[in-house]
Amino acid sequence: MHHPPQRWIAHMDLDAFFASCEQRDDPALRGRPVVVGARPGQRGVVAAASYEARRYGIRSAMPIAEAARRCPHAVYLRPDLEKYRRVSRQVFEVLGTLTPSVETASIDEAYLDVSGLERLLGPPDTIGREIKHRIHAATGLTASVGIGPNRLIAKLGSEYRKPDGLTVVSPAQVADFLAPMPVGNLRGLGPQTLKILDRLGIRTVARLRAMPLHVLEQHLGRHAAAGFLRQAEGIAPDRVIPDRARKSISKETTFATDCTNPDVVHATLRRLAAEVARTARGEGLAGTVVTLKIRYAGFETHTRQRKRAAATCDEREILETAVQLLHARGLPDKPVRLVGVGISEWSATDTTQPDLFDSPQRRTAGRQVLRTIDAVSEKFGHGKLQLGVPPASDT
Ligand SMILES: [Mg+2]
Repeated sequence: MHHPPQRWIAHMDLDAFFASCEQRDDPALRGRPVVVGARPGQRGVVAAASYEARRYGIRSAMPIAEAARRCPHAVYLRPDLEKYRRVSRQVFEVLGTLTPSVETASIDEAYLDVSGLERLLGPPDTIGREIKHRIHAATGLTASVGIGPNRLIAKLGSEYRKPDGLTVVSPAQVADFLAPMPVGNLRGLGPQTLKILDRLGIRTVARLRAMPLHVLEQHLGRHAAAGFLRQAEGIAPDRVIPDRARKSISKETTFATDCTNPDVVHATLRRLAAEVARTARGEGLAGTVVTLKIRYAGFETHTRQRKRAAATCDEREILETAVQLLHARGLPDKPVRLVGVGISEWSATDTTQPDLFDSPQRRTAGRQVLRTIDAVSEKFGHGKLQLGVPPASDT
């Protein structure tokens, strides 16, 4: 019988990235609790906490005031995002020396398809050590690496042992690896879902896996139930999309019930534009073409595109064009089932350029805001922070 070659996906996650950069550059900070984020006494959150600070229970996304209460003597630093981006680029360059199949997940996380490296370097654990070693040699930073048959297992692997961890999970080990984990470790389970599962007495992946599909469907809906069960069985995508091959960045949302409220459609477009912009900035990409996808009740789908004068990765500009497309003539006035926003046709934006956001001075303030938002969103997923988007005429 023919067996396809084993696929190995690696997930690399730099440890306490922002805080580690600061500790690396200032020996006086080493061994001390370091908190990068908002200024204590002001509003805002923790963007990163060193492992010493984590011992006080300080976590990313925690209000800075709470961090200050937990550990008043910690060193509180403002984020130096230029620095973090510089170091991040170094790390990604190093990864690129191992394989061209590197996909940026955030400023400090990447997926790599390392399947082809076995012949070159050795078994997965050797590959994992090599990834960590090269990053450390180039930047002085530690990373945690997980390697497994797909993205989910790789990601859970890198979370499994931190900092400076390496976890390899073979296909034969997947079931045992997942079984004792809290269900919250799986992807895409929001607080609402977790509450429902908790009520059903499902706290571990093993329990989730043991649940009959129809019971889960009843409580979570068909789509979500099937998705979580697949994850519980360790089934997940195993494709790495190399950054260079990416043709477009797009996000879409299907409404739970067909939407007739234009304000909801608008708010959704705004959120999608913000997600697209954030992803683009994280990858150092700016696109000239904005795409609006809209599907109506009955699956009638329209895709509209407009080319902007200049490439953008600014959510306000993406939203502006998406809204223009929405109001352009020819779209029916019917309940909306799905909306999507995308950008494509990259300009020659080079990630080695510190300034991705055109030049005019009036953008500088906005840029700082965007970057702070990115820094926070990159750490905690989207939606924590959003810009109030001014009317289109202001942008
Ligand atoms: Mg990290």
